[in-house]
Amino acid sequence: MGYQEQITLINGERDLPYQRPPLSKAFLTQNLSPDDILLRPDRFFADANVRLLSGKRCVKIDRRERAVELEDSRRLRYDSLVLAIGARARSLPKSFGAIPHGVVNLRTLDEARFVRDALRSPKQVVIVGGGLIGLEMASTLSSIGCHVSLVEFHGRLMARSCSPGIAEAIEQLHRTAGVNVYLEAGTAEIHAMAGRLHGVTLTNGLRVETDICLFATGASPNIDLAHDAGLACGNGIIVDPFMRTLDPDILAVGDCTTFPSVQLGVPVRLECIQNAHGQAATAAATLVGAPAPYIVPPVFWSNQRLCKFQRVGFLDGVDLTVRREGEAGAFSLWHFSERRLRAVESLNSVHDQALARQLLVKQAPVTPEQVADPQYELRAALLN
Ligand SMILES: Cc1cc2nc3c(=O)[nH]c(=O)nc-3n(C[C@H](O)[C@H](O)[C@H](O)COP(=O)(O)OP(=O)(O)OC[C@H]3O[C@@H](n4cnc5c(N)ncnc54)[C@H](O)[C@@H]3O)c2cc1C
Repeated sequence: MGYQEQITLINGERDLPYQRPPLSKAFLTQNLSPDDILLRPDRFFADANVRLLSGKRCVKIDRRERAVELEDSRRLRYDSLVLAIGARARSLPKSFGAIPHGVVNLRTLDEARFVRDALRSPKQVVIVGGGLIGLEMASTLSSIGCHVSLVEFHGRLMARSCSPGIAEAIEQLHRTAGVNVYLEAGTAEIHAMAGRLHGVTLTNGLRVETDICLFATGASPNIDLAHDAGLACGNGIIVDPFMRTLDPDILAVGDCTTFPSVQLGVPVRLECIQNAHGQAATAAATLVGAPAPYIVPPVFWSNQRLCKFQRVGFLDGVDLTVRREGEAGAFSLWHFSERRLRAVESLNSVHDQALARQLLVKQAPVTPEQVADPQYELRAALLN
């Protein structure tokens, strides 16, 4: 098997393709160089017969001619086109007017370089957004001596990605580590002089002097290219379980897609590595004529210095949660819907989480009573 034809990879960024997860973690602590986070070394692309075009974005899809156009007006013909164009950080509120130097998003390597350079010596930092990325930055930056104020609009942290039980435990860890967490708060005013940030006033009236304010308020899928080409889009480019758009010659994968979830029975869009990898493998199988639907339950993780959070499955429709204790404060929450296992979240329980994933993939009949019993060997449920 394998794909013998020419593959062209249009990479809109000037850097070689890199991993994003380290950008909010180890990369900020100066321990890593951009080369350390590459997805593949430079020579890989030539060896794999992949023509890599970096630094020029694709600006148009001509479906009739089966061609794409780049920023520099080059046109490239395709037999099959895969859109893996990801998501972009949600733009900063227009009400703030011109965005001063020092107010940044963190989505790209260039933005991470800026943040890292700005934080060479310990500083006051304001982070807006208490989701996974905001919290990862908070734990990384507090570990290098920054004074971190984290501002979250909702009444709890990680409202999109975990249950309240996990959010409470994570909030406590951050507060104990010295992060000032402000819930039900936002940014009321951004203070700048000569185009440079020097302070932020929060909606709770608190003013924080800072020359860096990091916005981690979520991402929106890049759909413009697909939408302009007449492909169906909603909260993402709409694909079937084989990653095909409504045009059989165009597939889409990763953060930019909305796909039919077998587990939820509704279309969903996910922003996580496992989903991007899984969908890419599915699209590759479709392209080489060995299609198999994408059905694995989603897996999320977040490394936040003091804890490793992991989740497998969806939390929607959960009606019963069982807590299972691990060692040294580790625990996992097992979520059921009508007595069927639906999702498992854990803090520092890597072993339980690996088992949970296998149980969910296999749809093994593990019961709430078994999970609640500390003597019960979860592995046994896999044999049923
Ligand atoms: C700071 C940060 C930390 C994260 N941490 C985790 C984590 O711990 N665990 C986890 O599971 N997930 C994490 N994620 C999410 C994860 O990185 C994404 O789910 C994953 O990168 C999605 O891959 P993708 O290929 O779909 O999109 P992307 O990684 O966004 O890649 C899309 C690429 O397409 C390019 N592009 C867009 N439009 C065009 C165009 N018109 N022409 C050419 N190129 C274009 C973009 O520049 C980009 O390089 C994190 C994300 C960020 C930003």
